[in-house]
Amino acid sequence: MSYNPLDNFEIRDNTLCISGKSITELDDAGLKPPCFIYSKQIIIEKIKLLRSSLPNPIKIHYSIKANPLPALVSFIADHVDGLEVSSLEEMKTALATGMDSTNICLTGPGKSYEELEIAVKNGIVISAESSLELHRLDEIGTEVMHKPSVLIRVNPTYTQKRAGMKMASGSSQFGIDAEQVPELLNWIKDSCIDLHGFHVYSGSQILDAEAINYSQNKTIELIKEFTSTYKIPIKAINMGGGFGIPYFSKHTPLELSSIGKNMHSLFPIVESIPSEQPINVIIELGRYIVGESGVYLCKVVDKKISRGKTYLITNGGMHHQLAASGNLGQRNRKNFPVYIANKLNSPEKEVVNVVGKLCTPLDLLGDNLELSKAEVGDNVAILQSGAYGYTASPINFLSQPKANEYLI
Ligand SMILES: *Cc1c(COP(=O)(O)O)cnc(C)c1O
Repeated sequence: MSYNPLDNFEIRDNTLCISGKSITELDDAGLKPPCFIYSKQIIIEKIKLLRSSLPNPIKIHYSIKANPLPALVSFIADHVDGLEVSSLEEMKTALATGMDSTNICLTGPGKSYEELEIAVKNGIVISAESSLELHRLDEIGTEVMHKPSVLIRVNPTYTQKRAGMKMASGSSQFGIDAEQVPELLNWIKDSCIDLHGFHVYSGSQILDAEAINYSQNKTIELIKEFTSTYKIPIKAINMGGGFGIPYFSKHTPLELSSIGKNMHSLFPIVESIPSEQPINVIIELGRYIVGESGVYLCKVVDKKISRGKTYLITNGGMHHQLAASGNLGQRNRKNFPVYIANKLNSPEKEVVNVVGKLCTPLDLLGDNLELSKAEVGDNVAILQSGAYGYTASPINFLSQPKANEYLI
């Protein structure tokens, strides 16, 4: 079945609507493009879909790095079981939501002593990425007389071939190589560390359910192996996520039902792992929860023809939405879903290049796209912009104005 990202939205009078309000109504109410608009309605739909497709006991955590807007994180926090953070600022955002700190997890390489100390003092779970980090945590625990709750992030030997971005196996800056883990587990027994559990994250933007099932099966197998040799009771398993969303015309949505079915089959193994209470099985998702909820909106400020090509020049650009320009990890540039938001089904079409206002040819938001015929003043909407949009972009490049962000 082909996927159309516009199907997530209502269309009224040929105009894109977000959470029931049309772009024209929003414009009249003072909306100021260039801006990002995030739909609460779509976020809720995605979380509902996850809850109904995955087994009940699965805990869903939101990875703040996908979109750290405090109002949005606060909104999501009421609908998920935990938050994943990777910096001091993200930790503050997470704590400000009122989420129980035992359901907040600090992950990421190169954590500072200060970050670790604040996490320990606040009872935040820490995913340790190296042996040195474990030693620092032991030191901090002794110092503040409070046992750090720690997950060991494991870099497994198996590969996640189908990930848009691979983040484990082979040699990696993430996690501790699986073969080093047994020795560290021995050391942990005599340390000041409370081993909360294990964490494996194999990659991001995966659209193949079988690939996700494969790495989740391997993850549970590996953790079972660690725990059966060492018989240490654990409390949690974070088996990653990596659920992708369709961006380009050839992409098809992830089959959640297949992942749900596979997760069901893992519970008997999880139940056989030593623990003093039912083990929390966690998945951590960013993009899947917020990616489709976000629209980047900018206005056409100039239109010209250069040697046969028509250009729509907008007041936005790659400094706000780098990913749509193809410069955030794409090998071959492909167009994001781009539309003229106030003329969606207009019969008059035109092939155009949509560009931003930066002085670089990299600032291309749409290449040779057939869009509704647009004029100066029309709104260009780029869909699938809710994750890794604004904060993954070079906001200060060319000292252009910032984008506004709205959660509606
Ligand atoms: C980036 C990241 C995530 C979130 O990835 P998405 O593709 O946005 O779901 C989750 N866990 C870890 C460890 C990450 O680095």
